[in-house]
Amino acid sequence: CGIVGVVADPEVINNVTSMLIQGLKRLEYRGYDSAGFALVECSTGKLLVFKDRGRIDDVVKAYGISRYCSISGIAHTRWATHGEPSQANAHPHVDCRDEIAVVHNGIIRNFLELRRLLEEKGHRLRSETDTEVIAHLLEEYLKTSESMWDAFRKLVKVIDGAYAIAVLYAREPHRIYFARRVSPLIIGLGEGFNMVSSDIPSMLQYTRRFVALNDGEYGYIEPYHLYIEKNGSHVEWRHRIITATW
Ligand code: GLU
Repeated sequence: CGIVGVVADPEVINNVTSMLIQGLKRLEYRGYDSAGFALVECSTGKLLVFKDRGRIDDVVKAYGISRYCSISGIAHTRWATHGEPSQANAHPHVDCRDEIAVVHNGIIRNFLELRRLLEEKGHRLRSETDTEVIAHLLEEYLKTSESMWDAFRKLVKVIDGAYAIAVLYAREPHRIYFARRVSPLIIGLGEGFNMVSSDIPSMLQYTRRFVALNDGEYGYIEPYHLYIEKNGSHVEWRHRIITATW
């Protein structure tokens, strides 16, 4: 299973879909049963989600993903732990309004309890996964938060388990939120773009500078910016840059 996310300055890279596809294909070796993509379409600003069980190439072809234009996106290969391999259970998962897309590797241990709370508040969940609660929790927290960033910080306090997470929000296409606990997640620093991925090789074609996230770190990437926090405090990362020389 694996995660890739890219956010780019349209003046530098006018479409990130091929980077997502190539990046995800380089994560195939980790094994998977389903694949999926979320993009914010350039012309409409709408969140588009394409996903299914089966091979990456087949999902890409079936939905004609390469013909879409987006300056940011997230992609996922799934190794099912909660819910059978199916289109409904494939990631990304979205909130009720189709504005927040989430990809996740790992297990959210307290998802049943969170799911019950969300259903009591009227959320209709569309999958059997542990992951989907994340999209709905963010939607719920957004109602009482000043920003998605605030909502995201609440989220990481509430979810329990092992996770690498990337979130794309249609109203903030210039940003991707991420969080890591136990499952690996690496930031790729580009020129006019930034990436997030489960490993370094999947990004080597695009950049040679990386920051490996530590356990409990979360934050966001923008085309020219990386922000990391842990336990509510800002984390300085510049001294942690790894430059690939191989
Ligand atoms: N637990 C999640 C699911 O079953 C994520 C699995 C994964 O790591 O791919 O959908």
